[in-house]
Amino acid sequence: MNDYDVIIVGTGAGGGTLARHLAPSGKRVLLLERGDWLPREPQNWSTADVFIDNRYISADTWYDAKGKTFQPQVHYFVGGATKLYGAALYRLRREDFGELKHHDGISPAWPIGYDEMEPYYTKAEDLYQVHGARGEDPTEPPASAPYPFPALAHEPRIQQLSDDLAAAGRHPFHAPCGVMLDEVNPPFSACIRCGTCDGFPCLVHAKSDAEVLGVRPALEHPNVTLVTGAQAVRLATNDAGTAVTGVEVDHDGTREVLAADLYVLSCGAANSAKLLLASASDAHPNGLANGSDQVGRNYMFHNSQAVLALSKEPNPTVFQKTLGVNDFYFGSDDFEYPMGNIQMIGKSQADMFKGEKPLETKLAPGFALRDVASHAVDFWLSTEDLPVPENRVTLERDGNVKLTYSAANATAAGRLYHQLKSMLGHLGMHPDHLIPRHAYLKTDIPIAGVAHQAGTCRFGTDPATSVLNTDCRAHELDNLYVVDTSFFPSIGAVNPALTAMANALRVGDHLLDRLGAARNGTGS
Ligand SMILES: Cc1cc2nc3c(=O)[nH]c(=O)nc-3n(C[C@H](O)[C@H](O)[C@H](O)COP(=O)(O)OP(=O)(O)OC[C@H]3O[C@@H](n4cnc5c(N)ncnc54)[C@H](O)[C@@H]3O)c2cc1C
Ligand code: SF4
Repeated sequence: MNDYDVIIVGTGAGGGTLARHLAPSGKRVLLLERGDWLPREPQNWSTADVFIDNRYISADTWYDAKGKTFQPQVHYFVGGATKLYGAALYRLRREDFGELKHHDGISPAWPIGYDEMEPYYTKAEDLYQVHGARGEDPTEPPASAPYPFPALAHEPRIQQLSDDLAAAGRHPFHAPCGVMLDEVNPPFSACIRCGTCDGFPCLVHAKSDAEVLGVRPALEHPNVTLVTGAQAVRLATNDAGTAVTGVEVDHDGTREVLAADLYVLSCGAANSAKLLLASASDAHPNGLANGSDQVGRNYMFHNSQAVLALSKEPNPTVFQKTLGVNDFYFGSDDFEYPMGNIQMIGKSQADMFKGEKPLETKLAPGFALRDVASHAVDFWLSTEDLPVPENRVTLERDGNVKLTYSAANATAAGRLYHQLKSMLGHLGMHPDHLIPRHAYLKTDIPIAGVAHQAGTCRFGTDPATSVLNTDCRAHELDNLYVVDTSFFPSIGAVNPALTAMANALRVGDHLLDRLGAARNGTGS
């Protein structure tokens, strides 16, 4: 008998959520995480440490299409990328599950519909304590329950922005947000509503991340074990190649092989593809589960733009990420194709501008950079990135990730930018200034901004065109699953984490059935 029922590789949005869901079943679950616990230290909330010195970006070397090395914006910690995320926890739109025609191509349909995912979105919102308000966003999909917590109040400048947008005929809404803030009873609130949330770790563990709400609660169960510093480097199979028999792990420099009945990868889209490709064998010469040649393909990461507008009045907002606008998600009167989502990002601080050439050259000497910070209103524009087979992860000769990527859907992204720019005059902002913010991405190299990576192991019904079946099990292997964002056949234009969490709960129910355990999982 194997030592474990399930081995989960990676502890982020997918893996951490799955661990929590399986934990109450009593099944023996092993979590392997290549990183360590993210240290709780004053630097968690230091702009200079986090944004200038990139303290929490993990060392890794990837290659671009031309073979040039770069440092990807990855976070190898218990909790994965969610340790640093902005906790904007959106559902995909119902239409995102169907085929959508975009300016530059097609966003393909998912093999399951929104209705199948809906109960799991509701559970994920519950588990990750999402704050929001239903009924404000005209594009929001139907939901079987209200948000578990009330929407976060806008601070005055953002309330003004909301009022101005509404006066201009738009439909601003309270953005769904995973912070444990109790505005009615502040002395008992875990979250203190600080200005160092989006892109920072939460020093007081009040952000709804996969460490705090996934891994830690899972570890309260004696049947769940976590090993940190344990990087999965290869999966071995039986001779026929039909089942995984063990995972080879580099554990703090020592090689060991661990075995379970079921294996679940959740290393993030690029690293799960890497692990499968690195596990090539006689039975799987192109990489594990890669008879279709789809592993690593259709890499997506959103056409995202972080931009700064200058308010005529000062913007003293502390926690800015409370507002969203989806009026252009599916198009507008003068552009019939989807453009995407507009939301706020963490408030600019003067320290973040160091070295940001566009700001220095376009605004100086008219504005001192500290005046820019005090008047900045910061937006995040997300346009759907379309799946393109040639945008892909392969392995460089030294075994590291090679990322070949060209932007898709650039026209729609440009339209969304101009849409926002054209509204600035009505929103109390200087009309001519909508300046790109590179520091928010913590990199000047576009492909290094891998925060929203997805694709690479898409799920589907046809083994010739997909890697996983609708249960997110590899078509070619009986006991291998993938629950990170790599299963996405398309990415939509809203942030991906809640969909990864909801899908992990969906796959978790399937695994509980398979293991003969009750489905009461998370208790949520
Ligand atoms: C700065 C930032 C802001 C973001 N903001 C938002 C937001 O507001 N809303 C939103 O929805 N999304 C946001 N995201 C994206 C979101 O965090 C990711 O979509 C989500 O975490 C992906 O989940 P995952 O399970 O696919 O991978 P991850 O969460 O990245 O987890 C992968 C895990 O696998 C581990 N791992 C990798 N390789 C191995 C290996 N070989 N062996 C063992 N372990 C391994 C990693 O260390 C990591 O812990 C943000 C991301 C970043 C970086
Ligand atoms: S706003 Fe709340 S959740 Fe975010 S970092 Fe600050 S205390 Fe933590």
